[in-house]
Amino acid sequence: VNARKGSVSALPQGALGVKIRRRAVLIKREKMTKATANGPTTAKSPTSAPTRPAPNPAGGLADLQRSVGNAAVTALLRQGSPEAPPAPGLMIQRDAVDDARKLLSYGAFDWAITDSEATKAFNLLKDFSGPRTAMMTRLGEKYASRLFDNLPRTLQVGADFVAILRAAPAKSMKAWLEDLPRGKSLKPAQKSTLATLFDATDNAEIALLKQIFEIRYDVKTGADTSEATGVEWDAQGLRASWATLSLLPPAQVEGNSKFKQYLRYDKGNGMGGGYYQGGGAKLVSMDYTSGAGSFTQANVSEAGDALAGVNRFNKVVRHEVGHAVDAKMGWGDGSEPAKEARGGWKQYGSKAPNAFKEMVTLSNAGISKLGEDARADVEYEMWWCAVNKAGGSLITRVKTHKWWDKLKAEEKTAVETDPVVAAMKQCLVGATPWYSAANGGTALGGRVFQESYADTWTSYLQSTRSRKVSQYQFRAPGEWFAEAYAAYYEPDDRGKGSKLADNDSASKTYFDDTVDKLK
Ligand SMILES: [Zn+2]
Repeated sequence: VNARKGSVSALPQGALGVKIRRRAVLIKREKMTKATANGPTTAKSPTSAPTRPAPNPAGGLADLQRSVGNAAVTALLRQGSPEAPPAPGLMIQRDAVDDARKLLSYGAFDWAITDSEATKAFNLLKDFSGPRTAMMTRLGEKYASRLFDNLPRTLQVGADFVAILRAAPAKSMKAWLEDLPRGKSLKPAQKSTLATLFDATDNAEIALLKQIFEIRYDVKTGADTSEATGVEWDAQGLRASWATLSLLPPAQVEGNSKFKQYLRYDKGNGMGGGYYQGGGAKLVSMDYTSGAGSFTQANVSEAGDALAGVNRFNKVVRHEVGHAVDAKMGWGDGSEPAKEARGGWKQYGSKAPNAFKEMVTLSNAGISKLGEDARADVEYEMWWCAVNKAGGSLITRVKTHKWWDKLKAEEKTAVETDPVVAAMKQCLVGATPWYSAANGGTALGGRVFQESYADTWTSYLQSTRSRKVSQYQFRAPGEWFAEAYAAYYEPDDRGKGSKLADNDSASKTYFDDTVDKLK
């Protein structure tokens, strides 16, 4: 006991308070050791020091020897050290690794590894000038894990820490990653460390890249198994995604409960696109083909559109996240889409006949001048054309009705030249009017009607299309928001929102005041 007391006072590290605390623990331990002297051979850790491993029978002696600096005995007792002679570069600095191990060891009087001990060990390893992988292999998984467990969080940052992490045995690094909080719970410094680690990870280490990505953004990554062409992520896509997502407000990405999966498929079209699915899935799925060059495919926009010529892949990432932000805000279900400033959208859903009735009324031409029954027949035929994907068949169908032959020549002409007829040819989803029709399509009373998705009908004020950031923005209210979002967050030297402001300054202000401030 006297010898032990002596070595306690000789402990090099820790404040007085720490020493006293350790002594108190020591007394408890001695009691417990007595109590269990004849008990099971696998002794349990004292409850007061739950993180301590089972006492090593040689531990007390080993620590005594270490504390008096008996290097020869210490070497004999060193746990897990390689038997082979160290590599030449290590020979010079092997004491640094030894010393780090000592600092990271438990002993009879050393019940916990203090911040200060872990910090000293880290500094020794940080300053080691030999190959770091050999150094960390020699340190060993157990001590590496102790280092990562005990090093203050504030020091778990920067290139040196990441280099040591990368050089550590794989299990130690994995354990460090698994111990981190996820997504929105990460501190800024931890996000920065993860970014450095992600950058330092080889392209071939996909599983590790995915793990780091999932922790950083709190999403599940993988192949989109709901698509026939579902395929696992590659490094190129993950890196481009990381760079894009890191520029968005955290509340919209890792803090967004409507964005929980990040999947991939590949239709073989270069940078094809992607989709968002809300409900229980809460997923963004990206469609792209691996390979340099495929990420900057010419954008589908017209000259003057804010999104013309931007990086296609990055734009699609922002677009799909924009859908998740819309879901989080409930934007599409609110009053905003209907406002003239946002497009003056009306949504008919699957109630196509309501849209057809409004088309005829707003057109206020030949069809609306027919008698009530004839007009109802025309609206029915509009529905037939939509269901049968035959938007150009309206007049042919109308002419089969008995009343047609009884019309005067000018009445027939008025029906045939009603803008509704031209609109029907353009507005079905298969005709992709947002891309293909001039100015989105033939306006009826100022509104463009369209089948946004199969059996989902909308209309918008054509005049608002002059503020578009892309053609696709005018497919549907949700696409309007997603494209405006993509434009708003398009990186621009002039500042956030500048691209959107180029086309639509009122919506830029709206994004400043609402979307960008989302919590
Ligand atoms: Zn979309």
